[in-house]
Amino acid sequence: MQAIAHLREDEFSILLERVQTMGEAIAIAEKVQQVFATPFNLNGQDLFLTVSIGIAAGTAHDQPDDLLHNAYSAMHQAKTLGKARCELFDAELRVKATSRLRLETDLRMALARQEFQLYYQPIVFLATGKISGFEALIRWRHPQRGLVLPTKFIPLAEEMGLVSRISQWVLYQACSQLRQWQQQFPTKPPLTVSVNLSAQQFTKSDLPQQIQQILQQTEVDPGSLRIEITESAIMQSLETATAVLEQLKTLGVQLYVDDFGTGYSSLSYLHRLPIDKLKIDRSFITRIDSEAEQLEIVRAIVKLAWNLGMDVIAEGVETAPQLAQLKALRCEYVQGYFFSKPVDRAMAEMLLCQEFMVRP
Ligand code: C2E
Ligand code: MG
Ligand code: MG
Repeated sequence: MQAIAHLREDEFSILLERVQTMGEAIAIAEKVQQVFATPFNLNGQDLFLTVSIGIAAGTAHDQPDDLLHNAYSAMHQAKTLGKARCELFDAELRVKATSRLRLETDLRMALARQEFQLYYQPIVFLATGKISGFEALIRWRHPQRGLVLPTKFIPLAEEMGLVSRISQWVLYQACSQLRQWQQQFPTKPPLTVSVNLSAQQFTKSDLPQQIQQILQQTEVDPGSLRIEITESAIMQSLETATAVLEQLKTLGVQLYVDDFGTGYSSLSYLHRLPIDKLKIDRSFITRIDSEAEQLEIVRAIVKLAWNLGMDVIAEGVETAPQLAQLKALRCEYVQGYFFSKPVDRAMAEMLLCQEFMVRP
């Protein structure tokens, strides 16, 4: 072993200069993992850590940066496939890494090139069947790849530290659009817009100020803006997230827990957070009309939300039987392909003109 370097946060690299085969490098990686298999004792508490390792082979002619980048790609693959794994950088990964590098370069330019676009999916108030507002969902119009969905590029933007700038753009766009719609379609209560934020942003203390500034610039009433944060993002940094959520609440913004039920979290934290609505994840709604257990889970979530003084939004409603079940449970809001897929601005305006009618 020749050198160990601390690259950033929780990332380290080990340079092995005298290994002849991949087998030797793997053996060392396994030893590292064995060391981490026993817990560390920190102030009397046992801490369990796992390590994901990526191995890349090189020669004296390789550029150090390339070698590190390849090892990083392999480590990324190890993380994607599951925790505590070890992966090698091979030909297949080389193709993936090249494509990822291209995507990274394109993503850096996408904001300046105005390639992002917001789509809007209606959220329907079940009691009246009317659109209460929209969830803003980002799309990337890539010049060669076509329409790229957020699940493909938001995680990458997070890793690249770009997600904050993208979110600024999303918030500004969504709020300006909402202001225009509120004037064009005056309703009681006024239309709302929901914006998704990633976990990373909740560790930044200037988020509330940024949001406040955007609300002032776009002249949107804070009560019309909804911020969606996933249950797992809250759990990742419970203390910081709680502090930021409380500041947002002071601004008058409403807060939703997104993908509720998928975060595998303890429910005890819920009542301590200033949450207004729970969005029940699509995975529960999909089988609500065919599996009794799913129906019972959704019933329990609805009751839990009510007991904590929150409303419920069911995500991913696709069929009339699913909707019928949700109506029977007296779920307040619904969202899903049954009403509309996420659509562009013009289509959203057509939806606002026609309005949904859900028979009571
Ligand atoms: P999400 O916030 O839970 O959004 C709901 C996702 O489910 C959307 O996918 C939507 O198109 C999809 N969906 C809605 N109704 C149905 C349905 O009935 N059936 C099915 N099969 N799918 C339905 P989308 O737009 O691909 O977004 C995926 C995720 O990406 C979002 O999940 C959200 O977590 C994230 N995301 C989207 N826009 C942004 C953004 O501006 N910023 C950040 N940080 N994340 C975003
Ligand atoms: Mg959402
Ligand atoms: Mg969701």
